[in-house]
Amino acid sequence: MSRSDNGTWDITESVGATALGVAAGRAAETISDDPLIRDPYAQMFLDAVGDSSPHLYVHDGELSPELAEIDPRIGEWMQAMRGYVASRTRYFDEFFLAAAGTGIRQAVILAAGLDARAWRLDWPAGSRVFELDQPKVLEFKTSTLASQGVAQAPVQLSVPVDLRHDWPAALRAAGFDPTAPTAWSAEGLLPYLNSAAQDLLFERIADLSAPGSRVAVEAFAADLFSAESNAQREAQMQRYREVAAKLGRADVLSTGSLFYEEERSDVVEWLSEHGWQTTAIGGVDLMARNGRGVAADLDDATPQSVFVEGRLS
Ligand code: SAM
Repeated sequence: MSRSDNGTWDITESVGATALGVAAGRAAETISDDPLIRDPYAQMFLDAVGDSSPHLYVHDGELSPELAEIDPRIGEWMQAMRGYVASRTRYFDEFFLAAAGTGIRQAVILAAGLDARAWRLDWPAGSRVFELDQPKVLEFKTSTLASQGVAQAPVQLSVPVDLRHDWPAALRAAGFDPTAPTAWSAEGLLPYLNSAAQDLLFERIADLSAPGSRVAVEAFAADLFSAESNAQREAQMQRYREVAAKLGRADVLSTGSLFYEEERSDVVEWLSEHGWQTTAIGGVDLMARNGRGVAADLDDATPQSVFVEGRLS
């Protein structure tokens, strides 16, 4: 699936469809025996898309037994990804709740996708949660929730915009106050920005951040953007496509091909050099902390990521 630097997308297309993949992980986790997170909205998005989904596992929430029979390792791989998505969701949930606990009342979710934190979390009175994403993605999200009778979240404000364009202007126009401290998140976003766009994103966050602001980022090891890592992902995707083909599905999404594979700034270094105090935990350690560690021979099943938090005094 190809993409251009300025392309837009709907929820079943290109980068937009990756938001459905994450929602599928949250939906599966929600109905699992011992869920780390609960997101009752995720399944609504999957149901709304139905057969148009570019993923294999949407209807089940879990992998169907039929799929598992064709290739048991695909099942383990998806299980690992579910643990990853759940751990990541919990990391950002805890980040926002801790920031709110210190009195921060302004949150900005960059590339919100189908994340339903504005609905799920217990935001203190007076909070505002700005959600930025492509117009069609946000429109799908809010119209699906409305069609399911979900009331609008009092804290939520949609800011439909391309994050490679002038999103600070759109954010201000939506009522963002740059003099108030803000909690920012970039979850599942950086691989879809090229190196220059990533730097510009952080420059803009820094420009808009009053003292006391915080940022949480899902960053990635430099290796993720290497040729070797790309080849590994491609091999994995090939397995996935073969399974899909056996099921008569030729149109499944290849997320890896949407990544910008080029060297980019290290997020911890960038934030530290710009006056933020940082802490970080690797994705593997985060999963282990949550009881979702994966077998050593499955360690390429989840992204080589680092979860970074920055605080501005
Ligand atoms: N953060 C959400 C989550 O974790 O559930 C969504 C993650 S999903 C993998 C990636 C999201 O990034 C999609 O919703 C996509 O539309 C959004 N995105 C990527 N590049 C973008 C851009 N240039 N402008 C706006 N949104 C973008």
